[in-house]
Amino acid sequence: MAHKITFFNFDRWGEGKEYMAQSEKLTAAGVEVAFAEELLNKDTVGALAPAADFDMAGVFMDSVVDAGTIAALPNLKFIATLSTGFDHIDLPAAAGRNIPVSSVPAYGENTVAEFAFALILALSRKIRESNARVRDEKKFTSDGLCGFDLAGKTLGVVGTGRIGKHAVRMGKGFGMNIVAYDVYHDDAFAKEMEFPYVPLDELLARSDVITIHTPYLPSTHHLINAQNIGKVKKGAYLVNTARGAIVETAAVIGVLKSGQLGGAGLDVLEEEAEMKEGNMGLDRDLVMMPNVIVTPHNAFNTKEAFYRILDTTIDNIVAYANGAPINIVKPQ
Ligand code: NAD
Repeated sequence: MAHKITFFNFDRWGEGKEYMAQSEKLTAAGVEVAFAEELLNKDTVGALAPAADFDMAGVFMDSVVDAGTIAALPNLKFIATLSTGFDHIDLPAAAGRNIPVSSVPAYGENTVAEFAFALILALSRKIRESNARVRDEKKFTSDGLCGFDLAGKTLGVVGTGRIGKHAVRMGKGFGMNIVAYDVYHDDAFAKEMEFPYVPLDELLARSDVITIHTPYLPSTHHLINAQNIGKVKKGAYLVNTARGAIVETAAVIGVLKSGQLGGAGLDVLEEEAEMKEGNMGLDRDLVMMPNVIVTPHNAFNTKEAFYRILDTTIDNIVAYANGAPINIVKPQ
């Protein structure tokens, strides 16, 4: 075999392990497949490095591949992340060693937007509280469970890329008015879907529900922050299925406590990496708030998306092995 790829922390992918191990495409491209139980990061690489015989690494967002991790693996030539986001990999450090990094750009457009709507509907119709009424309180009553219609309300979509576009379409399907904010305006799509692009502050002021779909970049770090969050319409809802640090946690807690924000649905948290280790800081306060639903970065997680991720990753690895890499991400 000309190449060997080690997939890190791959037990989480369940039957995906066999799928990768038995891939005829990988075998035909001369790629041997191995698995490591641990994550690939600064804490694990020291023990891994002496015996590291792989030239390719397959990782997910929970492996934080920083400059030191890359430096500790002199044979590493290629990284394939099984995610759309790539902010867990130090791209300049990889580029400095001529290590291309591939991602899966388009597995979960509808999948993630559907999850954003699952959070929106759970909040708008008090699904969690309704279920607790019957299941925990053993009462079949609806007092105190009054929600609100989505039809006629305004959905603010922050980021109208692949996922955001599905959120726009879904919002339209519910009879919502749409406003959007993006540094890039897709005017043809805006015309087709009949929505305006507006400045972020205006979006915050006009929206009943705000849903975030930008990548995490230096330019989107704390895009929603202590300075602008006070501009939200009183009682509005915030949903984040993109990346935790796009939203300043302390600022969100503040407006949730004051009632300026009616509630939040968060699939991603600023400190989710620490949380996986069992350490919760400020995010603990968020998790425990009654008008907040937190899910464990689960928006991508459907059977259909799962196989799209695995298939695209196989294609990415094969393309690199054949000397014509695809889906390579660039530092931004
Ligand atoms: P995309 O690249 O298609 O779209 C992103 C949009 O954000 C683009 O239109 C871009 O112009 C816009 N944008 C970039 N910088 C901006 C800025 N500073 N201000 C405003 N807009 C800006 O990406 P996508 O496929 O729609 O995915 C969006 C993000 O969703 C991913 O980067 C990833 O972090 C996240 N995601 C989360 C999950 C999950 O399981 N929770 C799964 C997949 C993706």
